[in-house]
Amino acid sequence: MTDERAERIADFIRPLRVKPGSKVRLDRDFDPRYKAGLKKRKGIELLRTGVSLLAEYQDRLAAQDTYGVLLCLQALDAGGKDGTIRHVMSGVNPQGVRVSSFKVPSAEELDHDYLWRYAQRLPTRGEIAIFNRSHYEEVLVVRVHPEHLVRQKLPESARRSGLWDRRYREINDWERHLTDNGFKVVKIFLNLSKEEQRTRFLKRIDLPEKNWKFSAADVRERRRWDDYQDAFSEMLSATSTKWAPWYVVPADRKWFARISAAAVLVHTLMDIDPQYPDVGNEARRDLLVTKWELEQEAPAGTPADPYASVHPSASGTTDRGDGQTGNRPKKKKRKKKRG
Ligand code: ATP
Ligand code: MG
Repeated sequence: MTDERAERIADFIRPLRVKPGSKVRLDRDFDPRYKAGLKKRKGIELLRTGVSLLAEYQDRLAAQDTYGVLLCLQALDAGGKDGTIRHVMSGVNPQGVRVSSFKVPSAEELDHDYLWRYAQRLPTRGEIAIFNRSHYEEVLVVRVHPEHLVRQKLPESARRSGLWDRRYREINDWERHLTDNGFKVVKIFLNLSKEEQRTRFLKRIDLPEKNWKFSAADVRERRRWDDYQDAFSEMLSATSTKWAPWYVVPADRKWFARISAAAVLVHTLMDIDPQYPDVGNEARRDLLVTKWELEQEAPAGTPADPYASVHPSASGTTDRGDGQTGNRPKKKKRKKKRG
């Protein structure tokens, strides 16, 4: 991977990052219609590149089995979380990705501390976990609707003033702990304008095949737009950290939101730079012996190694190029232990 490409991706996502320690006001600092001067056609081409880069890096991440990645996606209703996940992850091996959607907590979940249910869904090493809504709901919807907090059955001491600052600190500490132990936390907020939300809601009503996506609750939440903007602004200011910064992705243009999300994820994976494990010389020698044995089983008239015959640069071939195989590689003699 060229450094130049990595640099271009870093430059592309820089304006979207919330500088740790900065005080954010969403409506002043981030434009939902920003598109970095790109045209849609070019954007779609870039998304294709991003998707294939993601596939390559995810394969290496899984093979190395040392790091895991947690992608948290937050947005207001109709912000495009589902479509972003579908498009950005379209090229990756489904075995290496786990998506969890978080809704109103169940009775069992409410019987634990507020981070418990999210901890159940963290990635394993080698895996990318996506949170469709995340632990950040605990300082967003729960803040805008205090009745959710009541259902959390907190003791009196935990309900006193300073609760939100304490939650911000606990979330930052939790993410720091994950990062220190090999789990990168990537946080994306899809920033939709109020007018674009209105348009998307209307589309869901106008098109019968989209009716199922519409919920009256979404319109009720829209009435609290300003409260949500404030809660998001405060949350972004308090929880964008050096180890897990927030990216505010302009979401009014779906294609731009998707390339931005892909770029943020690729940037993280490039930073990890996972490597395929090197099996070591001894194991490699054993592989070559097995290879030689398999080559001996080639039916008459077929190449000894069909793969190497069309990929001559494949390393470690014992094929002489004439369909015949070379000499049997010698196994390294292991020193006998003295009794
Ligand atoms: P979509 O509508 O695209 O299917 P969604 O994420 O909006 O996806 P819904 O089932 O419509 O899913 O809504 C989930 C609801 O759960 C949201 O209103 C969200 O605010 C709420 N929710 C999520 N986490 C919590 C929480 N910890 N406490 C209370 N409500 C929560
Ligand atoms: Mg919804």
